[in-house]
Amino acid sequence: MSDFLEFKDVSKHFGKVRAVDHVSLSIKKGEFFSLLGPSGCGKTTLLRILAGFEYPDTGRVILDGQDITDLPPNHRKVNTIFQSYALFPHMTVWQNIAFGLQIARRPRAEISEEVDKMLALIQMKDQAHKRPDQLSGGQKQRVAVARALINKPQVLLLDEPLAALDLKLRQRMLIELDQIHDEVGITFLYVTHDQGEAMSLSDRIAVMNGGKIEQIGTPGEIYEAPKSSFVAAFIGDANFFEGKVVELLDDNFCRLEVEGFPDVVCYNDNQIHVGNPVYLSVRPEKFRISRDRPLEDNHHNVVQGRVEDVIYLGSVTKYWVRVQDYRISVYQQHSRFMLDEKPITWKEIVWLSWHGDDGFMLERYSESDEKLMELPPDEPGDTNGVSLGANGLPVVARATRT
Ligand code: ATP
Repeated sequence: MSDFLEFKDVSKHFGKVRAVDHVSLSIKKGEFFSLLGPSGCGKTTLLRILAGFEYPDTGRVILDGQDITDLPPNHRKVNTIFQSYALFPHMTVWQNIAFGLQIARRPRAEISEEVDKMLALIQMKDQAHKRPDQLSGGQKQRVAVARALINKPQVLLLDEPLAALDLKLRQRMLIELDQIHDEVGITFLYVTHDQGEAMSLSDRIAVMNGGKIEQIGTPGEIYEAPKSSFVAAFIGDANFFEGKVVELLDDNFCRLEVEGFPDVVCYNDNQIHVGNPVYLSVRPEKFRISRDRPLEDNHHNVVQGRVEDVIYLGSVTKYWVRVQDYRISVYQQHSRFMLDEKPITWKEIVWLSWHGDDGFMLERYSESDEKLMELPPDEPGDTNGVSLGANGLPVVARATRT
């Protein structure tokens, strides 16, 4: 896939607010691409610049080889689906979907054929006569998708399209949107603050913070190898430990000093040098928790702690384990739970172990790192593993020093 949609050094200010700050981004044809970040990070503004509703202060927008920066919205082959769906209340489903082609004065037979195709795509042939107020939230959402797709846009823009739906419906619509994307094969640009949505739908994700892009990658790359502590904290839960590199070992591993811990081994793919202060980050599911001391090999880390809190969540149990002055969040996956052994519970002394490959190091120097560490010690909200603090930054399941 070649680059199809490009933002080149795009910026936009509103008064003193830098909504989008020199963003450069290339999206491939047919890609499902998400802009993900906390409220106010500039993702909607970037989408509006592409749709032509905002004009950038700097930079250009290129679509399929054409510079569209100066084109009015109705001359761009992009369609937007808003959170509110914006369906016409007095029109039926059929009329809503047909609207774009009727405005374009397409022949009747063609309109009828295309609307039928769209009704089949969204599986609503038998609902064509209904008005929007007779539809469920999920059905309205599907009509909005069909109404946008019938214009055969080069890019479909989706601005938090599932935000108004309840959790179950959102999960169903995620699957449907994915299927529709596979079927129509056009480029989707999806805006969301919900990392679960972005992870499950996207080919690639751009994580935004303060008008800038922090990282672009596949969901796996962003989760497993975040480039900043902001990304590590925003995508999933993460424990953070303050440490320092003390020795480079063979095979790209290094030895870290973390106060109160025995020596820690960690993979060092960022080539961080000896003496540098780092955050060691380990996700809760990467720990193994056990009553007996696990056997160690070269690159395994083992620490002893005491269980302070246990939250049974069905598929996993979440433990808060105190190790020295850190409180560490640990997920234990259930398998033959309560059958093979007595579940670990409050106040037990346990061993936590993790492989050096399963932690990652982040240098401690960026502005977002400082902001992150300023957050009050807090336990995470369990909505998709991320909750936002009053300052719009994620409150993370980091190992808090108390
Ligand atoms: P949300 O998820 O809450 O919609 P977002 O990431 O989409 O947030 P934007 O809507 O792009 O963020 O806003 C980025 C910043 O620009 C915010 O600080 C916002 O208040 C500001 N902003 C956006 N549009 C305008 C406007 N028309 N006038 C003034 N400020 C604006």
